[in-house]
Amino acid sequence: MKIAVVGVQGDVEEHVIALKKALRNLKIDGEVVATRRKGVVSKSDAVVIPGGESTTISRLIWRDSIAEEILSLYEEGKPIMGTCAGLIILAKRGDEQVEKTRTKLLGILDVKVKRNAFGRQRESFEAEIDVKGIGKYKAVFIRAPIVEEVGEKVEVLAKFEDKIVAVQQGKVLGLAFHPELTDDTRIHEYFIKMID
Ligand code: GLN
Repeated sequence: MKIAVVGVQGDVEEHVIALKKALRNLKIDGEVVATRRKGVVSKSDAVVIPGGESTTISRLIWRDSIAEEILSLYEEGKPIMGTCAGLIILAKRGDEQVEKTRTKLLGILDVKVKRNAFGRQRESFEAEIDVKGIGKYKAVFIRAPIVEEVGEKVEVLAKFEDKIVAVQQGKVLGLAFHPELTDDTRIHEYFIKMID
């Protein structure tokens, strides 16, 4: 089993560490590879798009042809997880910030996202949320987006103060928070279990 982490920008190494720990917990032999180049995602069984700056990550994955590889994995029905900026990039539609910056999205997740949705006062915070299939979970939010609208095939996994912060559409997971920044690897384990 091979899991790729898109490594162009953002909290890449944290996802690699969390995925490795989750594989150990599940007693699964697997390889986790961070990549900045094309050719790795296409040979993987699953891919993670980390948090960071969505404009930057988007620009680099389209420039370096990693975006097309993510789309192919999606076509093949392989699991994809986007966290924070990664969620924004997976979305079909964004808010005016996404449009103004001409951030090109992958359009995989049938949702509309709003960038930096918690405002300046709450740039970064922790909150306990309830995640469907996981349970109580301490989530770390950093300049987090939210999901404003969801399509028919999208299941809402978690809300925080009535705002949607975790969704799943088939084997695609989108999280507004950062599971890689806590010691709790349950979300990474949940993701790995989706791999055939
Ligand atoms: N605010 C960032 C963006 O909109 C996302 C923040 C994050 O990934 N931690 O791109």
